[in-house]
Amino acid sequence: MGKVIYIASKNTGKIKEYRNALEKYGFEIHSLLDLNLNDVEETGETFFDNAFIKAHNLFKIVNKPVIADDSGLIVNSLPNELGIKSKRFSPSHTDDDNIDLLLHKLDGIVDRSAYFSTVICLYINNADIRYYEGITNGEICLSRVGNKGFGYDPIFKVFGTNKTYGELDLEEKQKLSHRGKAIDQLLKDILYENIDF
Ligand code: IMP
Repeated sequence: MGKVIYIASKNTGKIKEYRNALEKYGFEIHSLLDLNLNDVEETGETFFDNAFIKAHNLFKIVNKPVIADDSGLIVNSLPNELGIKSKRFSPSHTDDDNIDLLLHKLDGIVDRSAYFSTVICLYINNADIRYYEGITNGEICLSRVGNKGFGYDPIFKVFGTNKTYGELDLEEKQKLSHRGKAIDQLLKDILYENIDF
């Protein structure tokens, strides 16, 4: 077996992005879906807290290096509504309802600027816990454009491009995205250090 990294996620969109970024370097990604385990409750107040909670919980089970990623969308004109609560924005918590509610709340609002943030926690062991952060600026479109990706991807237009995340294939999203930037930093550690995967 190659080098295994456990990922504390059941989100197939996220898992795909980690596989795309890490498998080419010989890492095998084992997710909560592969392990038939459930998500832990995200009770923290920051992306850092929640990334830690998810990583620590899975580390206790597998006792091997684990990554967890907590992410969210911050919409500047709705400062307290998304962020760490991005997943629980609409009552159903589904991607479609979250997008519909956000478009509805922004109806008539001029400032549609927003950014995505990811914090990755790499839990190597109880004495070595690291964090990597990535941010990408953009704006919320008037309606969905593109059907790739997951979550809020079809309504997030990346600053400096004319494209939403929903129009980008995995490789293109990786280059521009909040998660891609955090993964680049993670790679610098896991490729060049002698970590016991
Ligand atoms: P979590 O990090 O799994 O808690 O995700 C929080 C919320 O942000 C969920 O609604 C996700 O679908 C959404 N989200 C996280 N990452 C992305 C992304 O890369 N694109 C679009 N939506 C995302």
